[in-house]
Amino acid sequence: MTPTVTLNTGASMPIVGLGTWGAEAGKVTEAVKAAISAGYRHIDGAYCYQNEDMVGVGIHTMIGQGVVKREELFIVSKLWCTLHQKSMVKGACQKTLSDLKLDYLDLYLIHFPMCFQPGENLFPFGEDGQVAAGESNFLDTWEAMEELVDAGLVKAIGVSNFNKDQIESILNKPGLKYKPANNQIECHPYLTQEKLINYCHSKGIPVTAYSPLGSPDRPREKPGEPQLLEDPKLKTIADKHNKTAAQILIRFQIQRNVIVIPKSATPSRIKENFQVFDFELNDEDMKVILSFNRNMRGFAMKWDGFRPGTLSGRTAALPYLQAWI
Ligand code: NDP
Repeated sequence: MTPTVTLNTGASMPIVGLGTWGAEAGKVTEAVKAAISAGYRHIDGAYCYQNEDMVGVGIHTMIGQGVVKREELFIVSKLWCTLHQKSMVKGACQKTLSDLKLDYLDLYLIHFPMCFQPGENLFPFGEDGQVAAGESNFLDTWEAMEELVDAGLVKAIGVSNFNKDQIESILNKPGLKYKPANNQIECHPYLTQEKLINYCHSKGIPVTAYSPLGSPDRPREKPGEPQLLEDPKLKTIADKHNKTAAQILIRFQIQRNVIVIPKSATPSRIKENFQVFDFELNDEDMKVILSFNRNMRGFAMKWDGFRPGTLSGRTAALPYLQAWI
């Protein structure tokens, strides 16, 4: 059984999951099947990855073949920024459920704290090259997320890419019914996120680390940016443990009690990334890895104007974000 982290709902969330962003529709079904065969029970997806139907085929096939039961799986999805309006949240969740061929999600996250103008385009760029902001604010969206729990469509709700102030504003919201059960954030040794993780843990909110391998295939903002997986100091630690650099990066998060969702569409790597429960990093290894921190964000969210209650006006999302999706 995969070690789990207990959410504030009492549910157990497997500490390692499969990321599915950027996995082409043609490969992601096989990736999900390979992951479940290798022992993964947690799959991380999102509406905006535009492959949930193919992820669903993988899940459905494995359930159909009797390899796994639905209740043994932990399936995560995320509400996209164009769908934040209260009246749109239930429909968005139902679309994801229908694509995944499921009748409930284990965890549904608000993907980003900012709301975009509703419509077909995931990034509704205006003529000025900026993404047009919608009118909703995430505190209202949170109320619609709470209704999904009451309607039985999702077991738990949480957030992603939220900072301390944004989480605080949910926790302090008058009439709050359910606290966030998770915050999914970029996290790896070049962006260790110690302050935010400590804050979330102090509030009983487990953290999930996305891009745990440094997202080596993402478009680079600056050519020549260091590649985490090729860091020589990491390689030294990996050699000492007779493990790969990727396995060290995943193990690093597990030992911080941080849930971790490496993405791979390559069956051998999917297997490799799950072989992380048979060794331990010592305190010195952990200290060295933490010292790599350079606050280097792969997913630079250069949006502004999105403070709680002030979610209107224009926002400056970098066009390269569009290329990622
Ligand atoms: P990761 O850090 O997981 O890196 C994925 C890349 O690493 C892929 O190119 C993959 O290649 C490669 N890789 C995987 N395993 C290995 C290995 N053992 N050795 C060498 N290379 C390897 O990046 P992601 O940015 O994809 O993050 C992981 C997941 O987090 C996403 O898929 C998504 O589910 C989630 N996420 C959430 C975000 C949010 O805003 N909430 C934002 C970004 C990601 P290949 O597939 O070819 O094997």
